[in-house]
Amino acid sequence: MEPAGQEITVMGWVRSFRSNRFVALNDGSTLGNLQLVVDFSQFDESLIKRIAVGTAIKSVGKLVVSQGAGQKMELQVESLEIFGDCDASVYPLQPKKHSMEFLRQIAHLRFRTNTFSAIFRIRHALAFSIHEFFHKRGFFYLHSPVITGSDAEGAGEMFRVTTLDLKKIPFTEEGEINFKEDFFSKPTNLTVSGQLEAELAALALGQVYTFGPTFRAENSNTPRHLAEFWMIEPEIAFADLNDDMDLAEDLLKYVIRSVLENCKEDLQFLHDREQEEEKQKPQNERNEMSLLDRLKFCVENQFERLSYTDAIEILKNSTPNKKRKFQFPVENWGTDLQSEHERYLVEKHFKKPVILINYPKQIKAFYMRQNEDDKTVAAMDILFPGIGEIVGGSQREERLDKLETRMQEMHIPVEEMSWYLDTRRFGTCPHAGFGLGFERLVLFVTGMSNIRDVIPFPRFPGSAEF
Ligand code: ATP
Ligand code: MN
Repeated sequence: MEPAGQEITVMGWVRSFRSNRFVALNDGSTLGNLQLVVDFSQFDESLIKRIAVGTAIKSVGKLVVSQGAGQKMELQVESLEIFGDCDASVYPLQPKKHSMEFLRQIAHLRFRTNTFSAIFRIRHALAFSIHEFFHKRGFFYLHSPVITGSDAEGAGEMFRVTTLDLKKIPFTEEGEINFKEDFFSKPTNLTVSGQLEAELAALALGQVYTFGPTFRAENSNTPRHLAEFWMIEPEIAFADLNDDMDLAEDLLKYVIRSVLENCKEDLQFLHDREQEEEKQKPQNERNEMSLLDRLKFCVENQFERLSYTDAIEILKNSTPNKKRKFQFPVENWGTDLQSEHERYLVEKHFKKPVILINYPKQIKAFYMRQNEDDKTVAAMDILFPGIGEIVGGSQREERLDKLETRMQEMHIPVEEMSWYLDTRRFGTCPHAGFGLGFERLVLFVTGMSNIRDVIPFPRFPGSAEF
């Protein structure tokens, strides 16, 4: 049916009102506004006066082919109702460009800007296509607990969960905090990862994934870290490190391709926005590729796979290392890679996403499978342009004796983890998995530069507003 001539009802917020005649209305469903044409001679002047940027209105009218440029259709307004006025003199969102920092302070209102509505529509599309990807492949969505009684993974960077009265903390005779009196009769924290629980399920259901909030009390005030972020953690039985890498690469390509297809308008908007911003930057800080090019590039190219050892060699001999341009010079095998090193490999050396494998065991977690060389573990990190690490994963140590020994070496309480070790006692098998940081993915896909701008209400050191 041709839309012209139809009578429709629309509800939304006024984005602009000009010449006492043209209202640009947006209901959040897309970037585009609907132009309402108001014949002001037909309405009370007092009603017309109340139409302002931000006002919530309902209108009934007829869709007609637009006379003006800029839109195909417009609405000839027949009735107009105001739900909520918006006093322009105090409304923080003015029709001008606001800085990201300012918008972060009014995160409750920033959804109403083109940039943030585009970001959150894309965030939704990404979440949806992640579920779609796993569902199509026969994975089961697992809800791992948010409150955890194990601190094996995140010692030191976890948020304590307690109902103890902080003014009257109960102590044992030895002078320790008596967690027997706490809600769960033991110390508990917010989870840093759902992996260990996902492993338990994978060793029965075959292929599972989690997609939930995780919490880290690390004091990392960076544009890539949040204290509360969402993580996708698939875990697959009967799989090795190669299967794990293939799965991660397929997943990333699938979801990026799906957003390229389904969010064209929003992506184009963010692409153009970035192009504008780039013009303000000095030449040497500009992105070599535009947002859309980066996304297509990522979908079309095989990720480069190489060992940590080879990466160290490349970094050691790199120009920035020789010229002492790195904040953390690369000297010895065994040191952890910093974001500057990851980005050098991706952006300057290979110029494409990189998967690094076989890291030194002393910089990786206890559950990663030990390689024959006795020095490295079957770990893999995926590094992305502009982001650095986006995925961290590994093949898991499925051999009970090796796992126990490693846990003892790393002072992990073996008795408390007996539930985890049971999987290795009863029908263990090779298995692997990874964690994909959801906000790092949204950051990459939207081209934003700060992770605080791709989650509705960011939590970071010193800030838990809203
Ligand atoms: P980084 O070295 O960047 O801090 P990590 O090694 O601590 O990362 P993992 O513990 O392997 O990361 O977590 C898996 C994934 O979760 C990471 O690859 C990243 O995408 C994401 N991630 C980790 N920490 C954060 C954080 N504080 N905020 C947002 N995403 C995070
Ligand atoms: Mn970290």
